[in-house]
This record gives sequence, structure tokens and C-alpha cells, in this order.
Amino acid sequence: MGGINKAMDHSIYLHMPFCKRRCHYCDFNTYAGKEHFISPYIDALLSEIRVVNESKKSHTIHSVYFGGGTPSLIPLLGYREILFELKNLFTFTSDCEISIEANPGTLSLEYLTGLLNLGINRISLGIQSTNTFDLVRLDRIHDIQDILMSVKNARTAGFTNINLDLIFGLPWQDLQSWKNSLSRALELNPSHFSLYSLIIEPGTMLHQWYQRGLIAKQDQDLEAEMYELAMEMLEKYGFEQYEISNWAKSSAKADSRCRHNLQYWQNHPYFGFGAGAHGYVAGNRTENVSTINEYIQSFTGKRNENYPFATSPATISRTLVDIDTQMKDFMMLGLRLVKDGVSEDRFRADFGLSMKAVFSEEITTLVNNHLLEWVDVDHNRLRLSKKGILLGNQVFVAFV
Ligand code: SF4
Repeated sequence: MGGINKAMDHSIYLHMPFCKRRCHYCDFNTYAGKEHFISPYIDALLSEIRVVNESKKSHTIHSVYFGGGTPSLIPLLGYREILFELKNLFTFTSDCEISIEANPGTLSLEYLTGLLNLGINRISLGIQSTNTFDLVRLDRIHDIQDILMSVKNARTAGFTNINLDLIFGLPWQDLQSWKNSLSRALELNPSHFSLYSLIIEPGTMLHQWYQRGLIAKQDQDLEAEMYELAMEMLEKYGFEQYEISNWAKSSAKADSRCRHNLQYWQNHPYFGFGAGAHGYVAGNRTENVSTINEYIQSFTGKRNENYPFATSPATISRTLVDIDTQMKDFMMLGLRLVKDGVSEDRFRADFGLSMKAVFSEEITTLVNNHLLEWVDVDHNRLRLSKKGILLGNQVFVAFV
């Protein structure tokens, strides 16, 4: 983990900020009713990929992630062009994981087959709930039939690596309703689950409802019960929790963990392309302009200038991460991996220092408070305890 300028596989994130309409809980960088900008947006993305790659030679890529927004609103031709350009300019590993986020209200068998034929081999379906009441209140564009059909079509198309995203801790939800939502999702037999607790973000419709007293925030104890229930149920169904919010089907044949997200948690480098995208390459964190208009405009008439590596005309900030911050990032991100945790050996290899010495006080306090535990007798690997998984924020704040 950590370290800069290491010769290691890189990842690529591409942001697709288009949605049919904005869900009631969403504060992501995405825009409704802007589909007419998809074509110039793809052109701008291709420009960004070329500009970034012009400034440094080829890197090996072992994961690509199309996130959003609703990436499944982008026509297949867009993905054909993007992947063609990426493969032209970067070296892809033979087993490169290529993921796409998809909304069940936007998918046909033909489209899914097209994605798979383009080499996209992992699909993440944002189903959010299998309760009609939840879907309506969240203002999702899909219903339960769309969910069933999307999973069926994804399988028929040939996808074996299928993630389902679900939300719990909805203001109106009780334990039984969450159990029902998760049980029906389990029946769909995906290879991976991402479960998130709802945060009522300012600027969302749910926040307006909250301010007007129409809904209350979910009770913290009940939310913790929902999380613990999910941990039990998923384990019973053969899923291994490998990150605070992520579970993969355990199998001797295939590793269903999301390689792309592991790249983030292991503090490894990734390029970020598109509006509002963040990157972490050569020890620098980068951020792009956030709106679709600004992003497209960035590439008008500026293509011949030289930009520092991994930046482009769309970059609004580039910050070299100092060693202190890298070490803290190593701890904060790595401790999210609830099974693997962080290792003394990796820390020493990356920073030439002892993790136990650098964070002696923090580790001692957190271990004494039963929030962290040593995995082995040699005290080489440190991870969240069961209590620490439930109270993760108390651990992470110690490394800020
Ligand atoms: S589909 Fe996803 S990105 Fe789009 S508005 Fe809904 S939650 Fe936000």
C-alpha cells in the first residue's frame, strides 16, 4: 500500500454524469435532462484520455470502472469508442476487470449483450431495495419487475460477475422491511453485494422532507441492528465480508471481490476521467471540473498545451500527497478491509518505517478499547475488531 511512483498496475475510473431524473436521496455529481450532451461529453472524455496519456507513456491497467450517474444511459457506441482509445493508449492486463454501474430501469438484453461483447465483464446494478414502497419513496425509475428482468437479462447475456447495491436505514424502514428487501435480493443470487446506510444529504428531496418534519432520521441503534442482521444473513448465504460495506461470494474458482474498489482501499494509483472525477497517480491527487458544460468546454481550443502528468484542461486541482498523509491514508483506507486489515510488512516496504512505531499511541489506544485487533501472534497484521466494524468512524478519526 501507499508509496509513490511504484511500478504497479493502475486503474481507471470514468464518470458518466447523466441520469433520467434525480432520485430523492441523491447528491452525486449527476444531471437529469442533459442526455443531448452525451455525444460531446464522450468526445471530451476521449480528448482527456489522449491529453493525459500524451504526457506520460503507457501504464498497465488491471481495472476500469464506469461510474455515475447512470452509465447505462450511454449508447454502446460510446463505450466502443472509449474502450478502443483506452486499449490503444494503455496496456490492459489479460484479466482486466471492466465494471459498469447500471440502473435496472435502463437495461435491455440487447444492450447487456453489447456491453459484454465490448469486454465489460462486471455489472453493478443499483437496485437499492426490493420493496416497492422504498423504490417509490426514493423516486427510483425502476420497479421490482425491472430488477428481476435486469438480473435475468444480465445472466442471459453472459455476465457472471454481478453486484447488487442496496440501501438500508431508510427513515421509514423497520428491521423486518430491511430483512425482506435483503432476502429477496439474496434470492437473485448475485456474486457481490454493496450495502450502504442512508445519509440524508443537504440539497436532496429527503433533506427537504426532513426539514419540514415529514421524516425523521433513522434511529442509530436500529440502523446498527440492520447492519448486523445483514452481516449474519450474508454470511449464512456464503458471502464473505471483505470491506465495511462490501461482500463477495466465497468460491475456490473465482475471486468476486471488486478489484477496482480494492485499488482505492489499498491506496494504489488510479486515473480519474470525466466531470468531477478524482484521480491518484504518481503520488498526486487530481480533481476535475464538476459540471458537464465546464468539462466539455475545457477541451475547446487547448489541446496543444503541455499539462503535468495525469492532468488535462479539465483539472482544477493537483496535490502532491506528502508522506505523513500517505501513511494516514494507508491506515484509514486499509482498515476498511475488515478481513485483511493493514500489515506491518507492507507499511515497511512502502515507507521504510514501522507502522507500530509511527502510530504507536493510536494503535495501543484502539487495541485497548477493543476497536482494533491483531490478526496474528506476530502482530504483523492489524484489523477492525467486530466492535470496530460497527464503530469504524471512531477508528478512522484517529488517523485523520
Ligand atoms: S440513478 Fe443514481 S446517480 Fe442517478 S440520481 Fe439516482 S441515485 Fe443519483
